[in-house]
Amino acid sequence: MKYISTRGKMEPIGFLDAVMTGLAPDGGLLLPEELPDIASRLETWSKLSYQDLAFEIMSLFATDIPADDLKILIEKSYSTFRSPEVAPVVPVGELFILELWHGPTLAFKDVALQFLGNLFEYILQKRGGELNILGATSGDTGSAAIYGVRGKENINIFIMHPKGRTSPVQERQMTSVLDDNVFNLAVEGTFDDCQHLMKTIFADVDFKTGHSLGSVNSVNWARVLAQTVYYFYAFFRVQERTGAAEVRFSVPTGNFGDILAGYLAVQMGLPAGKLILATNENNILSRFFNTGEYSVGKVVPTLSPSMDIQVASNFERYLYYRTGKNSEKLAEMMSCFSQTGAVTVEGADELFAAGEGNTEQTLSVIRRYSEEYGYTLDPHTAVGVAVAERFQTSENIPTVCLATAHPAKFTDAIEQATGTAAHHPVLDALADAETRCDTIANDEAAVRDYLVSKI
Ligand SMILES: *Cc1c(COP(=O)(O)O)cnc(C)c1O
Repeated sequence: MKYISTRGKMEPIGFLDAVMTGLAPDGGLLLPEELPDIASRLETWSKLSYQDLAFEIMSLFATDIPADDLKILIEKSYSTFRSPEVAPVVPVGELFILELWHGPTLAFKDVALQFLGNLFEYILQKRGGELNILGATSGDTGSAAIYGVRGKENINIFIMHPKGRTSPVQERQMTSVLDDNVFNLAVEGTFDDCQHLMKTIFADVDFKTGHSLGSVNSVNWARVLAQTVYYFYAFFRVQERTGAAEVRFSVPTGNFGDILAGYLAVQMGLPAGKLILATNENNILSRFFNTGEYSVGKVVPTLSPSMDIQVASNFERYLYYRTGKNSEKLAEMMSCFSQTGAVTVEGADELFAAGEGNTEQTLSVIRRYSEEYGYTLDPHTAVGVAVAERFQTSENIPTVCLATAHPAKFTDAIEQATGTAAHHPVLDALADAETRCDTIANDEAAVRDYLVSKI
């Protein structure tokens, strides 16, 4: 399988190169040249374990990794999960909850980042060299990235967070990782400052290549690929229980990475009648799917901070398919968007239904599920549930809601909704964990000096 750029100006490359490339040199995002049709294999795959299913799917895409190596990578990546099923499906009320938070940091990003970390290590072992990951986080992604590569050979990770502005639990999840290759930087500034520092450092190509800098951001193809697996897995589990020939998925959405994986799974033959895209008040994407207009607004803080995003970094991949794989048209649209902050697409995509779950609805869904079913939803998942309920039909098509985080990660919202805090032993244990973190000025030179001194 070869990979091309959405902008069409890159020679096709293999899977391992695609993983190391991140963003294509022409500014586009990488996609497989074509998507395999796996509809005819669904039945044979329906009883596979999560890991075996992941192997079958990934081996269609990672054709330059020998089968035995890929098996080991997958086993290793999901051995860190606290559920033997990796991603169990739990019936709650009228819905099915796909629990994606059994990984080390209790958020769905572990599903992709545990795999990506092992993949980076594998590629470096094969090809030599080193990788210095630089990232900026407002909380959630940082810890998943750190846990993805902690203790790995030839990899260092530097994660910047805004000093004192990350929730105490999320900060401790990052700073309590004491491996020698993990560096937490508390920047004296905001999250935007951290992102700005990262962008300016990455823009210096000489510095970037000279110091083997890389990123683990959500446009990395391996992350999207790892996320396609659980859509199939959830479909099989719901089919076992209900006999349904088709399911719907509701996806709490920020950067459009998670739901893009669902979209690709459908293109490969997953029988999903609808993908329900749920946003919080930062609703650029739900507005798009309802009106055709993709236009940036201002980011507002909500109870579901990992979805407080306006420009969705993975959306370009969807637009590529939406334009009928027309790279020229896509490039025009992206340039219109970056110049004017808006672009309009004609027609509608019937696969998607979209809506917004606001703060009040989020709290009321958390409260209701806790009272009626004794099940605590995290605020991101609650947004997905609120929107999914709106689209429930009488046709008896089961709906799977993706649960993207454990509620204890966002216990303030849970307390606000139910009056009771949410707990998880892993997070409770952090209270008296030893931590390590360096404070640094909001200054590009200071960050560069720091990197150089540690690499
Ligand atoms: C990242 C994240 C999301 C949003 O996923 P995208 O792939 O960015 O759309 C939702 N919930 C949680 C808890 C997250 O960490």
